[in-house]
Amino acid sequence: MESILSVENLKTYFFTKKGTVKAVDDISFDLRKGELLCIVGESGSGKTVTALSILRLIESPGKIIDGRIILNGRDLPGLSPGQMQDVRGNKIAMVFQDPHSSLNPIFTIGYQVDEAITAHKSVNENETTSKSIELLELVGIPMAKERYHDYSHQFSGGMKQRVVIAMALACHPEVLIADEPTTALDLTVQAQILDLFLELRNKFFMSIIYITHDLAVVSEIADSIVVMYAGRIVEKGSREDIMSNPLHPYTKGLIRCLPSDHGEIVPIPGTIPNLINLPQGCVFHPRCIHSMEICRKKRPSLNMVKEAHYVSCFLYGDNHE
Ligand code: SF4
Repeated sequence: MESILSVENLKTYFFTKKGTVKAVDDISFDLRKGELLCIVGESGSGKTVTALSILRLIESPGKIIDGRIILNGRDLPGLSPGQMQDVRGNKIAMVFQDPHSSLNPIFTIGYQVDEAITAHKSVNENETTSKSIELLELVGIPMAKERYHDYSHQFSGGMKQRVVIAMALACHPEVLIADEPTTALDLTVQAQILDLFLELRNKFFMSIIYITHDLAVVSEIADSIVVMYAGRIVEKGSREDIMSNPLHPYTKGLIRCLPSDHGEIVPIPGTIPNLINLPQGCVFHPRCIHSMEICRKKRPSLNMVKEAHYVSCFLYGDNHE
């Protein structure tokens, strides 16, 4: 399948008074047309910074210091601010974690979806209204025609997130990035929103990057998975590869944290390292039960161990010592 978005050797650092935070440090992955790619990792792993880097929304003291982000052949870091503005919304849209902060309580829902449509296209008023209602129906808002006139406080958390997704879809983006979009919602609503993402992928063959810390969510919806740890990719592959045959000790640890009918939940010992003062060698070595001498000295590279399954660990492939 053709790749629609390629991230190549991306490095995004934050230059703080305390030192340089290597929030994203040399990561590469591809998103193919119609693919739902999940980026998973604990908080501080660099997932959100990756998404914000793709949209060029990194603010000072952060900076993309190296790498390429290619959307349909165009290198995004090379675009002017005006061209990038056009990409955001028209080509790539983002849904954030908290739907409350994405909606303005003083305007009707309909007005805000209308705004999302007209921000990038000139459309007459009647057309805009019917398009907004169509979008609200598409994301599963019941009685969309009537609810078009309501305000956000009249919507539940799940319904608000549906409205935010409708706004993101307003300009038919080629890539939709969702950053922990269900974290603020209860479990039943979370399942409904996950179904909505799957429906969008299936119906419109949309390419979606779904960011989450929750491997249970990933196991439900992902086509492929990128596992991040301390700003680096430690493993990537298809859902089947990662969930049924995880290789990296960190991925295995995340899977052991999943609740299951048999067996106990085993948390990964320790915490994510301080990104200003990363351990030398493999950044996971202080928490790894397989750590060897080389792990404390050298950084393992991300190598392919079988078709499209990559791991960064001295236990495998070309890294194997
Ligand atoms: Fe563990 Fe070494 Fe592999 Fe890092 S490189 S995950 S420390 S075995």
